[in-house]
Amino acid sequence: MPAEPQVVDILSLPLAQLVAYFAQLGQPKYRAEQLFRWLHARLVRDYNSMTDLPASLRQHLQQSAPLTALEVEAARQSAIDGSTKLVLGTRHGAPIETVIMPMDAADGAPGSVTQCLSSQVGCKMACDFCATARLPVRANLSAGEIVEQVAIACRRGFEQGRGRGGVAGGQDGPLSARPHNLVFMGMGEPLDNLPALLAALEILMDPKGYDFSPRRITVSTSGLAKYLPKLVAAQPDVHLAWSLTATTDAVRDRLMPVNKGVPIAAMVEVLRALPPRPHRKITFEYALLRDVNDSLDDARRLGQMALQVGAHINAIPFNAWPGAGYTRPARLVIDRFVEVVRATGASVSLRESKGQDIGAACGQLAGEKSLA
Ligand code: SAH
Repeated sequence: MPAEPQVVDILSLPLAQLVAYFAQLGQPKYRAEQLFRWLHARLVRDYNSMTDLPASLRQHLQQSAPLTALEVEAARQSAIDGSTKLVLGTRHGAPIETVIMPMDAADGAPGSVTQCLSSQVGCKMACDFCATARLPVRANLSAGEIVEQVAIACRRGFEQGRGRGGVAGGQDGPLSARPHNLVFMGMGEPLDNLPALLAALEILMDPKGYDFSPRRITVSTSGLAKYLPKLVAAQPDVHLAWSLTATTDAVRDRLMPVNKGVPIAAMVEVLRALPPRPHRKITFEYALLRDVNDSLDDARRLGQMALQVGAHINAIPFNAWPGAGYTRPARLVIDRFVEVVRATGASVSLRESKGQDIGAACGQLAGEKSLA
């Protein structure tokens, strides 16, 4: 009996792996490059449109490498700040979410767009203040599913007339509406899905594809220290963020169970031991929780820790979600906290999350299925 044809997840293959797969099919490297451009520069998802590939090859790919992607189930736009949350159906039995955020001058270049990406369905890290932790379904996204979030954002932006032109490989196509910055701050812990993360970064940074500069990509981790050196070795210029969120182990153990394996001082050492990255400050993220981590002693300790690592601090007032046992501090407390951090000499900014009115802000992503 003939063996079942092997199904290849072709959207997850960085160019080098696509070349290797094509070699098995007896196809030359330039054909793999052609296909890579169709998939990751022109963002085409239909083999029939790839007219410069031989018909027999297209037929074979249709059978053995189906282009299954994410499905847009819902889109909600914030009335406050113009950010858009997309709910994307996956094959994992629950959707993921991605958020497309137009930034104002204070957050980035005027008119720039930052996209927040999910790396997993749900999350294992069990941070007590984060809505994603409460989702029952947990699964790793494939590299293709991570990258497809960007493809979907490009297509939407292009349809809405936000194409910019001048983007390598796709001047007139959807890639010209590419977001400026990508942050892995959606659902999931990116370092808990390292192989897919690394493959996704390769595809996103490939000059023949999306052509993102690593400096425009931020990977945010709760602190899975053992994977960090691997990420940095593979992608030394990708920006790193650590969700610190507490200044004592007692409090951080309670908020973020990851701390029991890698306490604060251990993670600080790991960060200090990373190879020097002259232009790349690490970011400490600090969700401000009323009466939990917002004291002036916290502010002083936070500043000191950031100085030790040369990190920039992003303080983020807690975003509420139904059933959360936390609230954000009062405005005056937040402002005083930031002042005291700044007085230590550390660099700090206060970041109001986008999309709070559509459940799209940090820690609010919980896989809603339909429009409200
Ligand atoms: N797992 C990764 C990335 C996802 S969370 C990480 O932990 O870094 C992205 C950021 O949102 C983290 O800094 C997290 O601490 C923060 N966050 C989670 N829930 C929040 C909430 N309800 N309000 C504000 N920030 C929150």
